[in-house]
Amino acid sequence: MKIIFAIIFCVKITFVFSQQMRIGVLTALNVNSIEIKSNYGAYNIICDSSFVSSIPINSIIEVSVMNSKISVEFIGSRYTNLSKIFLVPKKKSSILSLFPNSIKSSKYTYKDTIEITVQDGYLKLVNLVNMNDYLCGVVEAEGGRGRHIEYYKVQSLISRTYALKNKNRHHKEGYHLCDNQHCQVYRNHSIDNSNIKKAVESTSNEVIVDINGSLVTTFFSSNCGGQTCDPSYVWNNSVDYLSTFKDTFCCNTKQSNWIKRISKKRWSSFLSDQYGVLEEDYGDLIYNFRQIDRKAFYIHPSLGIPLRDLRKEFKLKSTFFSSRIDGNDVLLNGYGFGHGVGLCQEGAMKMADLGYDYKQIASYYYSNIRIINFFKNRLIKQKKILH
Ligand SMILES: [Zn+2]
Ligand SMILES: [Zn+2]
Repeated sequence: MKIIFAIIFCVKITFVFSQQMRIGVLTALNVNSIEIKSNYGAYNIICDSSFVSSIPINSIIEVSVMNSKISVEFIGSRYTNLSKIFLVPKKKSSILSLFPNSIKSSKYTYKDTIEITVQDGYLKLVNLVNMNDYLCGVVEAEGGRGRHIEYYKVQSLISRTYALKNKNRHHKEGYHLCDNQHCQVYRNHSIDNSNIKKAVESTSNEVIVDINGSLVTTFFSSNCGGQTCDPSYVWNNSVDYLSTFKDTFCCNTKQSNWIKRISKKRWSSFLSDQYGVLEEDYGDLIYNFRQIDRKAFYIHPSLGIPLRDLRKEFKLKSTFFSSRIDGNDVLLNGYGFGHGVGLCQEGAMKMADLGYDYKQIASYYYSNIRIINFFKNRLIKQKKILH
């Protein structure tokens, strides 16, 4: 019994004194059963608040849903009718691999504690993870491997700011953030963690705030195509620290250009069905569009065809394109990849390679911002309130 209290006490103490995140993992899958293997370091398993056993390294635990409750099987023992289980690492370096729904090889590997319950007939898995460990996984998933450390620092900064600003996004589901693009992609602990770990730790607690001291919404996309996009073109509302400007750093990078063909028939059908813009009224004008500077609408605002609608319908890489007739097709010549609002990842990578530091990169893409220590700032604010 003493061991149980010791484990629960340790988990609670860690919660209070470090930034612990509750991240819903495997949220895009309906998980009925899962095999969990301890890759490095042993784990303790706690079932419904009772310490059950220590799981040695390389052992496999099978967890499944049975009559809306959890069933657990390992090392020849079976436990049923459980409401909640915790897998708690015995060492900081311990790592678990998750094999949902009998998949053979797993890309899902996590540090820290895993909590499992049942929700709507499926297993709900939550990784109770230290903020910096979480960020290492996010920075690797969102920024890729083998980048310059200053780029990883700016990605850490925007991912931390996002996480703290959106901590209540999944309040109803019982965790802070999910592991998909809806929040931030988080598939595993960082595998390539030399520069990523250094970047996350050296920017610990740092966040981006606007002139009022509020956390900014750190929009970013893969490549802005040479001009960042005004947020109002994408979401109808403006943001003080985000504007459209020419980005000279992302030209001639991986995602800077694209081409796509769409049949004239499909193009004209969409314009007539959705917006009443008919070929018989406008002729070839409905296919020809030139976009030197980013625009919000196709051809002319009076036609009421938002470029974001075309991007969604035709699965275009960006809204930054020009179009013309080519045979029976509409030929689109486009720039960039993503919505183009905020930080341009390929531009930021280029800036880092050219010697700019992470603060200069952040200030290039977000205007009138400050980079501050989140916790120091909160303490100062609290002291001011008390006085
Ligand atoms: Zn989410
Ligand atoms: Zn760019």
